Amino acid sequence: MEHVQQFGSENVLFSEAGIFARYESNVQSYARSMPAIFAKAVGCEIWSEKGDRYLDFLSGAGSLNYGHNNPVLKNALTEYVNADGIAHSLDLHTEAKAQFLAELADTILRPRGLDYVAQFTGPTGTNAVEAALKLARKVTGRANVVHFTNSFHGVSLGSLSMTGNQTLRKAAGVPLNGAICMPFDGYLGADVDTVAVLEKMLCDSSSGIDLPAAVLVETVQGEGGLNPASWAWLQRLEALCNRLEILLIVDDIQAGCGRTGTFFSFEPAGIVPDIVTLSKSLSGYGLPLALVLFKRELDYWQPGEHNGTFRGNNHAFVTAAATLRHYWRTKDFSREVTEKAEYLEGRLQGITARFPEHLERVKGRGLMRGISFASANTAGDVRDRCFALGLICERCGPDDEVVKCMSPLTITRGELAEGLDILERATADILGAPGRSGRKIRIATS
Ligand code: PLP
Repeated sequence: MEHVQQFGSENVLFSEAGIFARYESNVQSYARSMPAIFAKAVGCEIWSEKGDRYLDFLSGAGSLNYGHNNPVLKNALTEYVNADGIAHSLDLHTEAKAQFLAELADTILRPRGLDYVAQFTGPTGTNAVEAALKLARKVTGRANVVHFTNSFHGVSLGSLSMTGNQTLRKAAGVPLNGAICMPFDGYLGADVDTVAVLEKMLCDSSSGIDLPAAVLVETVQGEGGLNPASWAWLQRLEALCNRLEILLIVDDIQAGCGRTGTFFSFEPAGIVPDIVTLSKSLSGYGLPLALVLFKRELDYWQPGEHNGTFRGNNHAFVTAAATLRHYWRTKDFSREVTEKAEYLEGRLQGITARFPEHLERVKGRGLMRGISFASANTAGDVRDRCFALGLICERCGPDDEVVKCMSPLTITRGELAEGLDILERATADILGAPGRSGRKIRIATS
């Protein structure tokens, strides 16, 4: 691990891990399981500064749906930068914003019959969630918001109150208020309709629950373990919200932007949420951008009532508009994602079937899938072995027991097969069975 290189003005030569161990807070997380210094990336491939190649099945936790340095987006951005296009503009009207809004309306909203207005928040997903919560409370005059077991919506205080994970919640250091946690689809077993449970709690005048402003839901719980809500469950949830005049907020920050096959993850359910949050892959280039979409009649905001210095990032507008123009004007891309997702699911089912004692089931939807391990430690060992064999992937779920495959949507079939071969070989290595492909895979030696 010793690696000598000079960084910055410090006249000290550090080992590879040294500069980060010395100057970066303990709070770092992904870097702990991927001990390399990354230098270059194209599409699904990423290289360390030593030249070791990895396939990226993490994709910036879903922020790189179109791959690293996607050439279509890179060209749009470099052209804009070279022409001295506006970089920062608070929420001033700019050409880049106009072009993004026009492309969003023409390519995404109008064809889906969605009459939403757009609010650009501070550039992180959690800020979009904060804005959605505030708006729902302001519109309804109610304080509480229903969220679900295993939910994850970000780590600022409002979003954190909507998040299930205890470790994250404890870090808040203050009481997390305004939240009612209810069982997600499947949480009480396949036979229990948890919308009926919610209905009972909301309609019973003695349940102890005040009528909430909104219900906040992920259609596929990403960090919570790749739990998909069924279409029927989402439809029942929408119907209940409509009946009780509760706003339905879909947090599509991870599952949206094509990750599950359609631009919005909820499209196949045929529901129309009152409020939708998007971020992560919205810019497509890994540039920060967050957006809240909501029904026009909910636009109760006073000017500047929710603001932020970096709301609306023009470079991100340029690349976001390019993603819509290039990938979403026709249905071809969506079809491609669905085809790759079928292949991914088949391969994961095959791997799971080989190790029935250790691997429980395939979870997720679209290109947001993974395998649930009986032991979180084994899942961690497989993730580490994958890294050693040249595949970057991470874990999720309440105990980090799910190894997830979140490749770019633009991954080639060859790369997808290669990555899954590595996952299968890593699993076999850890569980002591022979690898499936026997293909020679270069070992990264970080
Ligand atoms: N909502 C969902 C569904 C997420 O998956 C995430 C991040 O993983 C967030 C919100 C928070 O986004 P950010 O980390 O950009 O604040």
